[in-house]
Amino acid sequence: METLRSPLLEVKGNIEVKRPLPKPPSRLPLSGSRLKRGPEQMEEALEPEKKRTRGLGTKIAPSRPRAALLTAVPQTQGQAAARTAPKKTGPRCPTAVATVLKNQKPGPAVPAQKPGTAPPMVGGKKPSKRPAWDLKGQLCDRMAELKCCRERNQILDQENQQLRDQLREAQQQASTLGAERRTLEEELARVRVQAEQGQQELGRLSAQVLELEERLGTQEGLVQVLQREQLGLQEERRGLATRLEEQERRLQASEAALSDSQAEVASLRQEAAAQAVLLAEREDRLHGLEMERRRLHNQLQELKGNIRVFCRVRPVLPGEPTPNPGFLLFPGGPADPPTRLSLSRSDERRGTLSGAPAPPTRHDFSFDRVFPPGSRQDEVFEEIAMLVQSALDGYPVCIFAYGQTGSGKTFTMEGGPAGDPQVEGLIPRALRHLFSVAQELSGQGWTYSFVASYVEIYNETVRDLLATGTRKGQAGECEIRRAGPGSEELTVTNARYVPVSCEKEVQALLHLARQNRAVARTAQNERSSRSHSVFQLQISGEHAARGLQCIAPLSLVDLAGSERLDSGLALGPGERERLRETQSINSSLSTLGLVIMALSNKEPHVPYRNSKLTYLLQNSLGGSAKMLMFVNISPLEENVSESLNSLRFASKVNQCVIGTAQANKK
Ligand code: ADP
Ligand code: MG
Repeated sequence: METLRSPLLEVKGNIEVKRPLPKPPSRLPLSGSRLKRGPEQMEEALEPEKKRTRGLGTKIAPSRPRAALLTAVPQTQGQAAARTAPKKTGPRCPTAVATVLKNQKPGPAVPAQKPGTAPPMVGGKKPSKRPAWDLKGQLCDRMAELKCCRERNQILDQENQQLRDQLREAQQQASTLGAERRTLEEELARVRVQAEQGQQELGRLSAQVLELEERLGTQEGLVQVLQREQLGLQEERRGLATRLEEQERRLQASEAALSDSQAEVASLRQEAAAQAVLLAEREDRLHGLEMERRRLHNQLQELKGNIRVFCRVRPVLPGEPTPNPGFLLFPGGPADPPTRLSLSRSDERRGTLSGAPAPPTRHDFSFDRVFPPGSRQDEVFEEIAMLVQSALDGYPVCIFAYGQTGSGKTFTMEGGPAGDPQVEGLIPRALRHLFSVAQELSGQGWTYSFVASYVEIYNETVRDLLATGTRKGQAGECEIRRAGPGSEELTVTNARYVPVSCEKEVQALLHLARQNRAVARTAQNERSSRSHSVFQLQISGEHAARGLQCIAPLSLVDLAGSERLDSGLALGPGERERLRETQSINSSLSTLGLVIMALSNKEPHVPYRNSKLTYLLQNSLGGSAKMLMFVNISPLEENVSESLNSLRFASKVNQCVIGTAQANKK
């Protein structure tokens, strides 16, 4: 190959360097500017092309393969030179070129052909060797060669130009691709950021999902509970619905019944209206009848006498001597209520001439009613019930219990031991009766009120038996006064007037009175027998519809023992006191008798004021009043003298007829 290197090729190398020949065609499709870059930059520059080549493929492929280009040109030129050389100058062409080239100095910048490197072969054929002298031929050869080279050069220039164009195109493509790449990179970065955000979002969402799943689990549990509850409620609802249906059925039935009832009510109302008219008529009639009853009742009481006397003999108490069978007799048939009583007294001082005891003297008495020892409290009350009722009609009523101590006055008025209803006295029974009748009369339009007081008169001093607290047991503070100036009504100052409306309240008052008496008893022995106890009930009735009013007092008096003091006995300090008591009692009892007599004889002056007792009872005695006296007798023979005294006093009273009773009506 060394031999193939010709001096012409060396010359050509020099010429190419010195002359501004077009640049030898580069085998690379690179621009001049690109060539100035470093190998890395070159690589970079190629990168888009590679990419493009990879991406586009067919776009670059159509360009001619470089090896083919290089081989094709010499082949064509060589063949052309071979054909043209013999015809034209032939070997002269190379010689001429060599001549021209000899005149030019070889440039130091051009590197010499390395020894051993062969000159390029043209057309792959060795040029035919001319003799050394044939310079012209050689010149011709060289000229021909030059021409060939020029042509070739021209082709290469064209090719170069094409390659440059391709390069420019490729560069444009590369820049386009670079821009595209940047865009894609930006997009990639954006996508990455987005992906990162997405990842974060995904993490957050998955956490949320977990939480939601947890909540879902809880909710599902809750749902199950609720479903169970719902089932229970549905069951309950079904039960309720059944009940509701049942209730509705009942309601319908009730409504039907109601409408029936309403119709019935309407007819009943009509009936009631008719009945009301009838009732009003009947009420009028009833009122008329009631007034008639009162009138007749009063007439009856009058016929019986405004002063009546009942005699009651107490039974022989355990431990007392049994009297002779003939001592006390109650003549009369068994059917009739007894009104007579015989008392026999054997007078030891009187004797017969023969010395035999004188026969007992019989003392007969007749009263409105006589109660033998076995009489019960309710039997006694039955006899006075109508009289007590007169007080509701407006007639003052006064009931006394007269007799010696121990004859049964307190038993008759207040009763026996408390708590035993069988032995209840007249006071509780009378009040119970009044309350019950007042209740009945309320149906006829009457309204009643009752006010009670209970005092005792001892040695002409008045004491309140209903006193409570510090005033308990104190005497002498109470005075009898008129209720007001010009008023007929009398009241006791400092005494309690207690409104009562039921039996219990009356019981409480009687209990209090008993307690107060017990307190006094410790101070003065047996004071209760030496004093008069006066229970008074102020009765006020009103018939508002008819404008009627009636006010009357009911007085129930347990008088002091009527026994006399044996004047033959020597008087000690105790007896003197007792004598004073007795005189006081006798004085008041005789005043009572005198008052009754004066009233009976219609005397102009009635000595009410002669004793506290008559003064206090002033309104319960006299013309418009009804009076009843119980004369209580001991069944014992030893008390015969006092019994006779009592019976005589009572008989005197019984003979009295006091005016005609008038109801205190307004
Ligand atoms: P006075 O009040 O007249 O002093 P009492 O009422 O205290 O007499 O009676 C004297 C005693 O005789 C009392 O023990 C009383 O319980 C009793 N007594 C009086 N009357 C009856 C009677 N009708 N039935 C039973 N016991 C009576
Ligand atoms: Mg008594």
